[in-house]
Amino acid sequence: MNQLELLWDYQQTDIQAEKVAKDIKRSPARQKLVKYRDYLLEQQNTIKRIEEEVLTMQDRLEVLKDAVALVEDQLSSLEKKMEESEPADLDQTEKYLADAQRMMGNLSEYESEIKRIRKDSNDRDRLQYDVKVRAARAKTEFDKLKASYDEEYSQKNKELTDLKEELTKKAGGIAPEWMEKYNAIRHHAFPPLARLSGNQCTGCNMSLPSGVVRDVQSGKEVECETCGRLLMV
Ligand SMILES: [Zn+2]
Repeated sequence: MNQLELLWDYQQTDIQAEKVAKDIKRSPARQKLVKYRDYLLEQQNTIKRIEEEVLTMQDRLEVLKDAVALVEDQLSSLEKKMEESEPADLDQTEKYLADAQRMMGNLSEYESEIKRIRKDSNDRDRLQYDVKVRAARAKTEFDKLKASYDEEYSQKNKELTDLKEELTKKAGGIAPEWMEKYNAIRHHAFPPLARLSGNQCTGCNMSLPSGVVRDVQSGKEVECETCGRLLMV
């Protein structure tokens, strides 16, 4: 085999290796796994966010409980004061009443906020539970898929390793300058070698001038003017 034929043979293996590498990357199982992984991350972030919200609510509840206790103290001391000494006049009575009303008003505000927070907190507990259930389900699916994907991957990877070994072996029989040329073209056109079909380059399907065709037929080193591939008969 001449250098071009050897390169052609090398290219056949290169194409196979490329296909296997692409299969690995595009594996539906792999893409699904990526989706599950993203989903799981999203759920974990949601759980974390809910936990932070619940913590903030608990802090607020503590503050409110203290406030309630304070107002209750104020109310009972007002009551005591009223029991101990009768209000001196109408003004004082009205002042006591206004104080008591203000305190009761505060108390009911605090209590409705506490009620609201408890409800929000319960809602979040439920939401968190749902998210955890969903995440657990996704994790189970992920693990199952991962196991079968790992098997698929190790097979494909073995195939790829074997093909790469074969490529190294084949490259050993090819002159380095030809190998370099092949790899240089490979950067912009794959596969880098193209046979002639009549006067056409099979890489890009463009017609070649008859002079170029003759050069290829005589075994000269010619690259397609359009796609840059190395031409051979
Ligand atoms: Zn071409």
